Amino acid sequence: MRFLVSNDDGVQSPGLVALAEALAELGEVTVVAPDSERSAFSSALTLDRPLRPVQQPNGFWAVNGTPADCVHLALNGFLDFEPDIVVSGINAGANLGDDTLYSGTVAAALEARFLGKTGIAVSLAGAHGKGYGIEAYRPAAQMVSRLIRSWPRLNLPARTILNVNVPDLPLEAIRGFQVSRLGHRGRARDVLALDDPRGRKVYWIGIAGNPADAGEGTDFHAVADACVSVTPLLTDLTRHDALEDVSSWLDEV
Ligand code: MN
Repeated sequence: MRFLVSNDDGVQSPGLVALAEALAELGEVTVVAPDSERSAFSSALTLDRPLRPVQQPNGFWAVNGTPADCVHLALNGFLDFEPDIVVSGINAGANLGDDTLYSGTVAAALEARFLGKTGIAVSLAGAHGKGYGIEAYRPAAQMVSRLIRSWPRLNLPARTILNVNVPDLPLEAIRGFQVSRLGHRGRARDVLALDDPRGRKVYWIGIAGNPADAGEGTDFHAVADACVSVTPLLTDLTRHDALEDVSSWLDEV
């Protein structure tokens, strides 16, 4: 199996290294990742300057772009082969519920939607301090290995990825895998207003809202239950069950 690996925490992040090392036991790994942290870049593409891949001493490719740039570039001419699967992560921190809209980790996997069996986005739910070393990511990397070993048996519809969140626990404390739907967060905290040194107002985006829908069956619930949450995501944002209402509304517009 040939893996393309990327992330949004940057080419030097320990989660990326742990993931690449685990996958190297299962196949051929190529890493193409942002040269610095690009968390919360979602599917942004860089269109105002060229992208320059620079190979690192460990063989990883660092790109002066976003997670989506990295996978887009890799799949559309930079690599001279087509990977079987794109694996993104392991992200420092959860990507649950509404987080998936902003996540560069998820976006890197989504960018592979034109491949046959697209990709997996992997996040470590709890690595908030981002000060964790590579050992913190080993249990999650092991759980990804287990998923990948069973990958051929998975029937995934086109344009679908798996969003995987691993609880931040020792391997023996993780209770297994649980399929889930996305939960939802409530409103984010207020922005933090400060004065800059010249007396002008500046603002920090506040932290994400608390879970508002974290009930049974959600990704929030699975992780809280010490399970690896696995949510199939699709790229079709159409609200199919609203088509009829919008259609009859348009008839009168
Ligand atoms: Mn990140």
